[in-house]
Amino acid sequence: MAGRIRDADVALVRERSPIADVVSEYVQLRAAGRNELAGLCPFHEEKSPSFYVNVATGLFHCFGCQQGGDVYSFVREIDGLSFREAAERLARRAGVTLTYEGGGVTDRTVSSQRQRLLEAHRVAAEFYAEQLGAHPAARAGQEFLTARGFDAQAAHRFGVGYAPTGWDTLTRHLLARRFTSEDLVLGGLSKPGSRGGLIDRFHHRLMWPIRDLAGDVVGFGGRLLEGGNTSHAATPKQGSANAGPKYLNTPETPLFRKGSLLYGAEMARRDIARHYQVVVVEGYTDVMACHMAGVTTAVATCGTAFGAEHVGVVRRLLMDSDERRGEVVFTFDGDAAGQKAAMRAFEHEERFATQTFVAVEPSGLDPCELWVRGGDAAVRELVARRVPLVEFALRGVIGRYDLDTTEGRLAALDAAAPLVGRIKDTGLRHRYAVNLDRWLGFLDERFVASRVAEHRGRATATDRAGAGANGAGGARAGAMAGGARGEIAAGASGGARGGPGGSAAVASTVGPRRAGTVDSADPAAVVEREALKLAIQYPGFAAAMFDPLPPEMFTVPAHRAVRELIARLGGVYGGLARTGGVGAWVAELSAVATEEELRRVVTALAVERLLWDRDVDDRYVDEQMSRVQELHVTRRIADLKSRVQRLNAATDTDAFNRAYGELIALEQHKRQLRERGVGAA
Ligand SMILES: [Zn+2]
Repeated sequence: MAGRIRDADVALVRERSPIADVVSEYVQLRAAGRNELAGLCPFHEEKSPSFYVNVATGLFHCFGCQQGGDVYSFVREIDGLSFREAAERLARRAGVTLTYEGGGVTDRTVSSQRQRLLEAHRVAAEFYAEQLGAHPAARAGQEFLTARGFDAQAAHRFGVGYAPTGWDTLTRHLLARRFTSEDLVLGGLSKPGSRGGLIDRFHHRLMWPIRDLAGDVVGFGGRLLEGGNTSHAATPKQGSANAGPKYLNTPETPLFRKGSLLYGAEMARRDIARHYQVVVVEGYTDVMACHMAGVTTAVATCGTAFGAEHVGVVRRLLMDSDERRGEVVFTFDGDAAGQKAAMRAFEHEERFATQTFVAVEPSGLDPCELWVRGGDAAVRELVARRVPLVEFALRGVIGRYDLDTTEGRLAALDAAAPLVGRIKDTGLRHRYAVNLDRWLGFLDERFVASRVAEHRGRATATDRAGAGANGAGGARAGAMAGGARGEIAAGASGGARGGPGGSAAVASTVGPRRAGTVDSADPAAVVEREALKLAIQYPGFAAAMFDPLPPEMFTVPAHRAVRELIARLGGVYGGLARTGGVGAWVAELSAVATEEELRRVVTALAVERLLWDRDVDDRYVDEQMSRVQELHVTRRIADLKSRVQRLNAATDTDAFNRAYGELIALEQHKRQLRERGVGAA
């Protein structure tokens, strides 16, 4: 078994893996300050961004759920990887070859299981792609593509391949390359045959490699082709291997989790962020046709309906929050199945702040067929003709009733009213109630609106009951997001703490975990925090003025703990001199903070935005450090004053005079500090 990865390699990979680039593969980020980027947290559900990345310190921190760390922690957390797996994934991305202590350079015998599975998929994808051009039975695949307007170049662009006829062509190919039988089965590339040994999972199929957001192949979608048995079957049994469902995907494996995978997402990612639009189509060829037609925001689910996890992925790619309204466009067939799919999507509609739309081709053609017949313009036109999902769903529901009879129209109203009642936006709800009235021909808006209101009442009652039954989990996630918003707003303005989520219940749930964050009602806490942020994020500026401040000047226990931690590393000056850079300095701080709570505080301080949006300079640093001292002196003056008041000037003359003299000196010192602070401002 392999040894550990060399420290030098870990550092090199970190250096070559800018945190913003790596995080952007999963979360759409936007500038939120000089060094900070913000996005929707991938680790908890939220409506507005409280997930921050600091490009200078190389750390991320979520002010909602307190998840935070460096680029390694991010990759580990989001992909569920061990440290070694995360290092391997980042190393591959950065083009660094890892050396294992006590082992050789990276190869299949020493690398992790995940790494081996990814490698097997890479080799398999290459193999399939080669077969498409080389295998005699692949002609059916080429014909399939040609009939849909895809030439060899298009096939190459999307990595389309061919899984050959025969029992174990791919399996033998991979075993010959020293992949193990266990890995091939685990990865879903092969399966045990009925006569023992391994056979391929895919036979005589056109193959689409499915990639994760980082661009690694994690599975395949295969379309059964015609005529496999006749062209290449030696025995009837072999022929039966070519049967099966029209579409077959990789089963659930450690790499392939279809609930959260979207085919085409890694290609569409950048344009989704740029155009604030995602187009969700149904098939692999539809994704291809859309991209060929210039609709480069198209993705498809992989053999499953569009579900809750997909919503999360899409929202993060769009950075779907109230501030920025992107759009999600679903394309469905005009038929019954399409209606059903639309209704399912409608179930998730409320989870998008984004507006959801449906693009339906009246002739019932899917985007690929449309592209074949009408070219690029027809596909773009389809997307441009989108209608709101609510409208589409409503028309679908009322279309099932006979609207020529009063009974039919009333029944249609009863079926449609709950849908309208579920729309959260009041104005939109009213508009659809009016539309519904027109579509049904009652010409009585008030009657329709009252039916909708009835269902609205029911819907909110169930919501409340649901939230109650859901327990602390759901309530807490919402409360945290609210609390986080409050905190960031307070941090930026220096105003009072709290905000929409700042109820007592929130404080009791979140309080202990947020012990280290700033209570902005306390000026000392705010100033201490700013001083610590400067010491961590701008060590070069802060060292000279921060290092003389003793830990007792920090009143918040978590702040004092961080001050002590910095002292243990020889102060900012010592630490910076030894590590030589902001990134390494922060990495050392986090490494030394062995206690989880302390590490969280350090991470938050390394990511949090300063209360100052201009360039950091000596004057700003001086002002903040002076303020820390000034507040410390103010506290000492208050103590002394109360002592002076307890002393009797006549009987305790010596003590009184000493205390009084000290008080005068402190007041003087405070004035100087204040002048420095003001002078700098
Ligand atoms: Zn979070």
